[in-house]
Amino acid sequence: MRIEQDLKLDFKDVLIRPKRSTLSSRSEVEIKRSYNFKWSGQSFTGIPLIAANMDGVGTLSMARAFAQQGDGLTAALTKHYSVDDLVDFFNSDASENAWYSLGISDADSEKLAKVLDKLPGEKINKLCIDVANGYSERFSDFVKSMRDRYPDKTIMAGNVVTGEMTEELILCGADIVKVGIGPGSVCTTRKMTGVGYPQLSATIECADAAHGLGGLVCADGGCTVPGDIAKAFGAGADFVMLGGMLAGHDQCEGKIVEDENGQKFCTFYGMSSDTAMERHSGGVAEYRASEGKTVRIKYRGDVKDRTLQDILGGLRSACTYVGARQLKELSKRTTFIMVGQQINNIFGES
Ligand code: 5GP
Repeated sequence: MRIEQDLKLDFKDVLIRPKRSTLSSRSEVEIKRSYNFKWSGQSFTGIPLIAANMDGVGTLSMARAFAQQGDGLTAALTKHYSVDDLVDFFNSDASENAWYSLGISDADSEKLAKVLDKLPGEKINKLCIDVANGYSERFSDFVKSMRDRYPDKTIMAGNVVTGEMTEELILCGADIVKVGIGPGSVCTTRKMTGVGYPQLSATIECADAAHGLGGLVCADGGCTVPGDIAKAFGAGADFVMLGGMLAGHDQCEGKIVEDENGQKFCTFYGMSSDTAMERHSGGVAEYRASEGKTVRIKYRGDVKDRTLQDILGGLRSACTYVGARQLKELSKRTTFIMVGQQINNIFGES
């Protein structure tokens, strides 16, 4: 057994220090980014926020709403759409705004091959290979085999939280490594297993490792307010993935219920929760426990109205406070200061 003494931080433990700036308005800030991917040779220009591949978030409706918005926002589609629905969708103009998500089972690869078979080659150019624990050899091998099979598709793979595994996945062929174990709003992994890593430190360390190899990272999970998204980009994230912040909208494709006071709600759940496993796998397998929870959240209307405006406005404003004319400069201009409880923990105050 070993205890690592370095301090590891979460979004809540820091704030971004303001810096002298020549910007006079947040409208001067460019929050789109352009990337050339290391392996696929493809490029991306857009606002680098991705809707998580979760029921109620990574929906076809979300991807279509992002396509209408026109800023290059993308949605990682949930794994549970049928082949026909996926073929129809990827044949549409919104295909650029979506990632095809898959796990690492034979069934997942067969389904992808089937969908690709029915589409022109360029229609699906972004893959999100997603497992809860990206540390298994089987996962790295799978990423390698997908890179061999699909040399010109952009591959995002995860999740991991440490530099050495980020490097491993990039060397196996991932263009982007997805970072985050345990920070999700409906995730109970930290409680059920004791495993995890504070998300701000995970992002800083994995981004550093990825950038050293010409790869990128996507910080996935734990953002609850627009300021957390700014902190994730400040920490070096190239993309940020959002679950809970995008749940509860018209695009959720789920039931919206009304209580006796006329208040509208939706159900939102983790993809390893009992609800998800009952829905998609006929129940929780005997050898495993659920690592996600089910919550009721307020219905918030169309995602394109208030929610996206708040998120994008908050991000522009964060850039203005530190004098970053482009989102690209945010990380270089970020100094985090530790706040409140974290300082108390260090100095032993209650
Ligand atoms: P959020 O933005 O809601 O804080 O986090 C979204 C992320 O939580 C997802 O992209 C995914 O990585 C993670 N996640 C989703 N469902 C579950 C779950 O049931 N269990 C765990 N451990 N993580 C989940």
